[in-house]
Amino acid sequence: MNNNKESYFWDKISKNTNSSFDVLSSSLSTDIAIVGGGLVGLSIAIEASNNGHDVVLIEKNHIGNGSSGLNSGFIVPKLRPLTTKKSLNQLLGEENSKTFLELVSASGQEIFNDIKRYKIQCQLNTNGWISAAHTSETSINQIREYRKEEYRKKDIQLLSKKDLQTMSGFNYWSGGLLYKSAGSINPKAYNEGLSDIATKRGVKIFENSCVQKIKEKDNEVYLSVNNSIVKAKKLVLATNALNENLHPLVSKSFMKINIYQGVTYQLPEELRKHILPSNSVITDTSPVQIAFRWTPDNRILTGGVLRLGLGKRLDLAKYVFGERLKNIFSPIIQDYNMPKSIFNIEFSWSGPIAITKTGMPMIIKVSNLTSAIISCNGRGVALGTSIGKLYGKYLTNNIYFH
Ligand SMILES: Cc1cc2nc3c(=O)[nH]c(=O)nc-3n(C[C@H](O)[C@H](O)[C@H](O)COP(=O)(O)OP(=O)(O)OC[C@H]3O[C@@H](n4cnc5c(N)ncnc54)[C@H](O)[C@@H]3O)c2cc1C
Repeated sequence: MNNNKESYFWDKISKNTNSSFDVLSSSLSTDIAIVGGGLVGLSIAIEASNNGHDVVLIEKNHIGNGSSGLNSGFIVPKLRPLTTKKSLNQLLGEENSKTFLELVSASGQEIFNDIKRYKIQCQLNTNGWISAAHTSETSINQIREYRKEEYRKKDIQLLSKKDLQTMSGFNYWSGGLLYKSAGSINPKAYNEGLSDIATKRGVKIFENSCVQKIKEKDNEVYLSVNNSIVKAKKLVLATNALNENLHPLVSKSFMKINIYQGVTYQLPEELRKHILPSNSVITDTSPVQIAFRWTPDNRILTGGVLRLGLGKRLDLAKYVFGERLKNIFSPIIQDYNMPKSIFNIEFSWSGPIAITKTGMPMIIKVSNLTSAIISCNGRGVALGTSIGKLYGKYLTNNIYFH
């Protein structure tokens, strides 16, 4: 993977680093082939295998190698602010946008239910997501947003400045919203859980098997992998920003933006009472967004979009994101007379995610046989899972139709 990393944090705390599936070493035929072993590819595979179809999933590295295994694990069932109701209506029409927004709103609870139902051991935390207002004006906008909310009012709670102080531990924000069907996971463990379910359903998973070429002939699609050929009735590309020109139409449908993730050294457990005592995940509304959460092993994980060439300078990004944390945590640093360095970053990573032009997840019909899914910029965990499942169901019902 073309990225810039010191090491993957989640690898360190996951029990089973890098599950091992066979390398594809002989040619085979299948009903459905899926390229990409992230949460989207795996969710499609699980549902698509339901009707007794043969499903093969091919991953060039290992399961969860892409964004799915290393993301920040925030479960945020909401679109990015870029997408307004008006722009959605223009894009999808009123009726479809209503259905889509319902899907988005339900995606947090859906992933909670699946994790519990399938007993996926991924350190699920259901304490909600705080969207913190960085100015009093944005706080007023949030109140308006809350009043207009049609689909999920019961799921959202307005937070006053004081509430936010109690929940975050800091007198830093002007107010906010708490989304209750939100929370966090260990993404690596989540992917491993999905791959276990897929295997139990009969999906054949291959790792370290890079799909180099795709060709369609006589109503079948042929994938060149290592020195073998996979022949399939349907193909789905679930390769996100890591597509590497597998299909030009897919590569052209998104831009790559760089994201940074930093995780501090382990902190004294005592600090959990003072920093984010609600144990929710938090992001704020400022243009240079602040986002952080506790990890299960008492670290603070932060991150966000890399701007202004920071993408090429992991050391600089590490410094900038570290200083932002220290700035917010300064009251605690002072009260307890701690060295600022306690909040230094131990693990850093940066790399690309795919942003579609509309900022929305996208299903691309490449041909009658081949489709591609670009999950969803920085909020793909819950929605990517829901959309993957839906698409898997669709595939299984429509495999013989064009
Ligand atoms: C640092 C970071 C933090 C994030 N934080 C959050 C968050 O907190 N909450 C949230 O909701 N979203 C977050 N996201 C976004 C979220 O992780 C993604 O939307 C989601 O994981 C995308 O899943 P995917 O399955 O589409 O892609 P990926 O997980 O990227 O999977 C694509 C897979 O395709 C494989 N592949 C590519 N080409 C080939 C080939 N030719 N042959 C075989 N295999 C191939 C890759 O190796 C990879 O494993 C974050 C993303 C990043 C990068």
